[in-house]
Amino acid sequence: MATAWIPFLEGRYSPTLDMWPIEAKEFNRIHEFYENLREGKFTTTKCKKCGRVAYPPRVICPECYSDELEWIELPKKGKVTVVVEKWGGVPICYEPPLIDAWIDLGKDSPVRHVLSRMVNCPPETLKEGDEVQLAVFDVPAHPIELKKKTITAERVFFAFEPVKK
Ligand SMILES: [Zn+2]
Repeated sequence: MATAWIPFLEGRYSPTLDMWPIEAKEFNRIHEFYENLREGKFTTTKCKKCGRVAYPPRVICPECYSDELEWIELPKKGKVTVVVEKWGGVPICYEPPLIDAWIDLGKDSPVRHVLSRMVNCPPETLKEGDEVQLAVFDVPAHPIELKKKTITAERVFFAFEPVKK
């Protein structure tokens, strides 16, 4: 796992601008998503009652409002459908461009498309039809207060990257 793509690690912006979620199970009801990422698995939730698969993962089914959900795995590879390179208005201290892609996970996937940030991807190289894969990376740990003790909660996040030819 890499630790790149996180500007404040380089001392360039304040942790108060930290935009990564707190992933500890005491604070986050989809903490299992991040635990699965740590094992290299890309997952989301499926309703046990009506079968509706939702992405991003939910705590309540958007179809029937049941909270009996289970975790299912999604493909970790897909093909680029649309690419957007943001050269202007990127968050403070990020170097433009920020590259996002609409990714087709294939007709057999429970979720057909996901929108993801792209990493390890030089500008103006990604195009429709390119194969991309899940990339999990470490995010700086976050101190949290738990039962009057401060503990350090480890974190990860994900993006997609081009599959090397
Ligand atoms: Zn449901």
